[in-house]
Amino acid sequence: MSAAEAGQGGGLDRARAAIAAILEMEAGPEALNAFRSVADPEALTIQNPDGPLAGVPLALKDNLATLDLDTTCGSKVLEGYRSPFEATVVQRAVAAGAVVVGKTNMDEFAMGSSTENSAYGPTLNPHDRTRVPGGSSGGSAAAVAAGLVPMALGSDTGGSVRQPAGLCGVVGIKPTYGRVSRYGLVAYASSLDQVGTFGRTVEDAALLLQVISGHDDRDATSARREVPDLVAASGRGAGGLVVGLPQEYVSHHLDEEMRESINAAVAVLEDAGAEVRPVSLPHAKHAIACYYVIAPAEASSNLSRYDGVRYGVRQAEPDLVSMYEATRSHGLGPEVKLRIMLGTYVLSAGYYDEYYGTAQRARRLITEDFGRVYASGVDVLLTPTTPNPAFELGERTSDPLEMYLSDVFTVPANIAGIPGVSVPIGRVRGLPVGAQILAPWWQEEPMLAAAGALEAAYGSEIA
Ligand code: GLN
Repeated sequence: MSAAEAGQGGGLDRARAAIAAILEMEAGPEALNAFRSVADPEALTIQNPDGPLAGVPLALKDNLATLDLDTTCGSKVLEGYRSPFEATVVQRAVAAGAVVVGKTNMDEFAMGSSTENSAYGPTLNPHDRTRVPGGSSGGSAAAVAAGLVPMALGSDTGGSVRQPAGLCGVVGIKPTYGRVSRYGLVAYASSLDQVGTFGRTVEDAALLLQVISGHDDRDATSARREVPDLVAASGRGAGGLVVGLPQEYVSHHLDEEMRESINAAVAVLEDAGAEVRPVSLPHAKHAIACYYVIAPAEASSNLSRYDGVRYGVRQAEPDLVSMYEATRSHGLGPEVKLRIMLGTYVLSAGYYDEYYGTAQRARRLITEDFGRVYASGVDVLLTPTTPNPAFELGERTSDPLEMYLSDVFTVPANIAGIPGVSVPIGRVRGLPVGAQILAPWWQEEPMLAAAGALEAAYGSEIA
């Protein structure tokens, strides 16, 4: 039974039970710190009792604007911030009957790969509380993995839905850039940001994506495209698909046991009737360098709005410039400041072409690699989601480069704007790991079909 079917008929019981379970877990010795805020159980409503998500408890990453709960983006500068409007994806999920039960913890402004950059403390991995859940949507992934909610929304700028899904053993989808409205998603790097979905199963994550997809007049980058039947696609099977295995991805960054698990996934897809062939993405090795120029450049511009005037917490100072300085120094955390400085630097007059211009040219080459491979008759690509299973809390916090490499397999999809999904493929050293399926622009259907075929063989990994 899908999450949606289980929700129907139960009215608000399911959402109230979810809230009670969240409060109980978060108050006890098993606390995950997955939630930033929890809805008032007495104030819940189901907007559409006949909708496809009627009664389904839904958690939202805390960078999606909501009217009834704060939107803090894991930052002190937005502590207590209440949005005057609601994100389109939230409106659409609620219009389909979903019941928002809480907002989830995240790396500050979605900058991170472990949810340790939250100003409100790290979230723990429900499979092993000494380890990170991944990030930046770690709260949403942990909430689904712990069985607290069946579905959640996150955002994916360089892997922040797929990477925590992989490390928590749940399904996470990043749609094609433009498939989903970004209106009301707090901007990090606008040319890379997309809202994505988490579910216990491919079908649930696909259903939630189906509901939130489609053109929105309030986001000029959302496409006027038909939304295909993603739920049907997730059950279609891998028969007849041509699956490319990028040789560059299974090279030096990969843990030996991760390599074995990807080889096993190849065998599963072949058994399911797919043809797997090696392919080459020669420029993928530049993706992390390219990303860490473009994302900070866009972030430095997007985050200039947190000045103590328009948003958030203001530090009292006698004059305007000291007020700006004090507000930003006090309100923003170290990783966010690092990115703003990096972004300002690569956009500065003397360095713009050398860094930003070069990164834009690399972006074009990385994107063309995907185009060439897909044009050669490959339907989808298979890669690991992450180079390793979940790492220990604190293990990578002192080494930003090591942290950035957690996203080495997920970042290229954002650079190119193509869709990707992470689906559990068993365990490595007792911890869940994921396979990533990438597809051409707007081809979520074969992507979900391949993910569904892996899920049929491996099952689910809920903690
Ligand atoms: N880890 C990457 C970063 O820190 C990606 C984050 C994301 O997808 N939001 O920018």
